[in-house]
Amino acid sequence: MSGSCEKSVSGTYEAVIGLEVHVEVKGIGKLFCGCEALSSAAPNTCVCPVCTGYPGALPSYNSLMTRMAVREGLMLGCEIDRGSLFDRKHYFYPDLPKGYQITQFRRPVCTGGGLAIRAEGGEKKIRLRRIHIEEDAAKLVYGADGRAIPDFNRAGVPLLEIVTEPDMRSADEAVNFAEKLRLYTVYAGVSDCRMNEGSMRVDVNVSLRKRGDPPGAKVELKNINSFSFMRTAITYEIRRQSGLLDRGLPVAEETRRFSEKSGTTEPMREKEDQTGYRYMPDTDLGPVAVSEKLIAEEAARLPEAPDAVARRYTDVFGLREEDAMLIISTPDFSDYYNGVCSAPEISGKLEKEAAKICISRIFTLADRDRRPAERQTAGIVKLVADGGLGSANVGRLIALAAENVSADPAELTAAHGLGVIRDEKELTAVVEKAIIEESRAAAQFVAGKEAALAAVIGKCMKLTGGRADPAVLDRLLKERLGRKLRDEQQQH
Ligand SMILES: [Zn+2]
Repeated sequence: MSGSCEKSVSGTYEAVIGLEVHVEVKGIGKLFCGCEALSSAAPNTCVCPVCTGYPGALPSYNSLMTRMAVREGLMLGCEIDRGSLFDRKHYFYPDLPKGYQITQFRRPVCTGGGLAIRAEGGEKKIRLRRIHIEEDAAKLVYGADGRAIPDFNRAGVPLLEIVTEPDMRSADEAVNFAEKLRLYTVYAGVSDCRMNEGSMRVDVNVSLRKRGDPPGAKVELKNINSFSFMRTAITYEIRRQSGLLDRGLPVAEETRRFSEKSGTTEPMREKEDQTGYRYMPDTDLGPVAVSEKLIAEEAARLPEAPDAVARRYTDVFGLREEDAMLIISTPDFSDYYNGVCSAPEISGKLEKEAAKICISRIFTLADRDRRPAERQTAGIVKLVADGGLGSANVGRLIALAAENVSADPAELTAAHGLGVIRDEKELTAVVEKAIIEESRAAAQFVAGKEAALAAVIGKCMKLTGGRADPAVLDRLLKERLGRKLRDEQQQH
């Protein structure tokens, strides 16, 4: 990530940025009814009187959500409330037939906590204000005729809203934080956090101030569905607001929509005052009881935090930072790589080599079924490191191993004739043949053109299916062509 910091046009303002991040909690159904929460289902097939807001239908809290909220809170270092409360947030919109959303206002399930991000001049902690549980609203789907039809599959889907303190000062810091929050939430197993599919949604609050002054009018940016759009939207907004302030014009407190097409933000609505929502306790629902036992269970089960994993990869395994970050970017990659590294062939010796093969050969496979077992990959890494397998045949061995995940890579190499050829007699015959077939290049090399040797080496590799030992081959070729050189000199 570049360390650039957005300065205002005149360079006199500082950006104050806070985030409100919604993540869809996966795998536990809906929050207040027994419906499934499947994003792939046909519209209005995961519905019941509760989530469609029929009068008199009573919500019943899905207590699996408590575990997920506690897990997320522990992952982010929050305080967990032992009895958080549900409130009604009133507003009118076609996707909300009850006329209110059930959320947590007075007492959220988590408070405090935070994450360290990389910022200009080192690490910086971004504090969290709160995490609360709430239900999602329905989704309006626009038909070909432009008419909006509500799809209630999303109504009542469980959400965690993670609210930060306004601790970020640039688009880079905000994006760094959102990316890290995504990673922690995915590692916690709380959500898949796919921004393009809406299972992670980021609203950004941006205001500007002169250094040392209190923040100015707050503008909320919505409709951002990728980290790159997030960067564009914030950068644009800082520029727009500082342009207004430079001309002595006020910044309106409002909600603005980001337009992907133009890369700009446009007014959506005036910012709703919190009192406008007429929050009140939801008397249908009791407090969210959190037992000490549940907290202890979740604490014991918490995965190693992504930051700690990355540090282990760089400091203990000696990986380059970009390789470590690439591996931790997906829990699946990290699990696999850890599995490979725990094999005795690798452990304490070949972690860097294992990372190289995992990154270039395994994680690039589109289909996970084409991966060898972790132990097999460890064997393949060892074969390459010992010089028993040339890079030309690594892909072939990986494919063979994936077809038979109980097979030993060394045995597969021998059975399919993939191993490196070191035998001098065998390679001498190859060299002779290559010199005849690449006689022009060989002659050029003899005449002093060093680079011409590459063509002869290439021919040898082709003749052996990439299996010739490069060091032996180089020596044999130079001996042979050097001898030829001397023969020719003697003839003159
Ligand atoms: Zn339902």
